[in-house]
Amino acid sequence: MKILLLSGGVGGAKMAEGLYHSEYGNELSVIGNVADDMLFHGLWVSPDIDTLTYTLADLIDTKKGWGLKDETTNTLEALERLGCDTWMYLGDKDFATHIYRTQQKQSGIRPSVIAKHIAKQLGVTANILLPTDQVIQNRIHTEQGWLDFQSYFVKKGCQPEILDIFVSGIEDAQPTPESLKAINEADLIIIAPSNPIVSINPIVNVPGIRAALKSSKAPVVAVSPMINGKTVKGPADRMMAAMNFSSDVLGVANCYQGLIDGFVIDIEDQQFTSVLEASGLKVMVAQTLMKNRIDKVSLAENVVAEMSTKFGLKCGTQLAEEV
Ligand code: GDP
Ligand code: CA
Repeated sequence: MKILLLSGGVGGAKMAEGLYHSEYGNELSVIGNVADDMLFHGLWVSPDIDTLTYTLADLIDTKKGWGLKDETTNTLEALERLGCDTWMYLGDKDFATHIYRTQQKQSGIRPSVIAKHIAKQLGVTANILLPTDQVIQNRIHTEQGWLDFQSYFVKKGCQPEILDIFVSGIEDAQPTPESLKAINEADLIIIAPSNPIVSINPIVNVPGIRAALKSSKAPVVAVSPMINGKTVKGPADRMMAAMNFSSDVLGVANCYQGLIDGFVIDIEDQQFTSVLEASGLKVMVAQTLMKNRIDKVSLAENVVAEMSTKFGLKCGTQLAEEV
């Protein structure tokens, strides 16, 4: 069974890890978010793609949920001594990824090909795909002016009030052939519990992607990143509010209106089941808070199994029994 996940960074990588280590892990593709990409010290950093890759490679710093484990910061400290701005944490080993990506980009290699190579070298067998090879960037309009995502998130600690958010460059971006192929070939498409505004929208709003998702035979199901009206972590609630969506499962469903066929909500939100079903969605209630690998795999397997039943798909075990 071919599963395609649309994912942001830390929240999405949890779902990716669950699927990867589940019985559905051998035909997994993940389209990651590139709208948080940015230049640091002349190097092209792609935080969400690296979080996905490091997570699936089992190299992630599990305490932080991002970055490589067992890191040191000699390079960052040396840059600081030179008077550089070092608010963005970049570990020594992590720097190698950014050096490699930048050097490959400069020699004209497509970012998709670079991401694929990095994943392969780190032993990841899932297909990590980019929605576009062009530069698109989240821009956050705050009371303190326009900020890119990392400046808002890391440098400013999500403090400034958000007035508006848009993704620069997205109107002129082209979808990668790899992502269109994965969408067309998928049996089930899952939207990870990621930030809808700055992680998922910059994937689905790349021209051509939304239409491909609509015309794909695969049902599209989202897992809510909101539990009981709150984010598990991060500024998704404030971003939803700034874009006029309520910061709860109803807001997430509104944000994904016309895009999703199924919706996975947390047990804490089960009272919303009937109103969501009345809007035409197939709704599944599950324990969606993922604290460890067991939670992640179990959520992944439950989502695939139950959504397969709801949409009449044959999932892994059923296919195996028929053979
Ligand atoms: P980022 O790119 O690192 O910000 O990560 P994502 O966009 O992929 O994910 C951020 C979202 O993940 C936040 O809105 C969190 O509420 C959500 N999230 C994180 N962990 C969990 C979890 O265990 N369960 C659910 N349902 N959502 C989660
Ligand atoms: Ca991100």
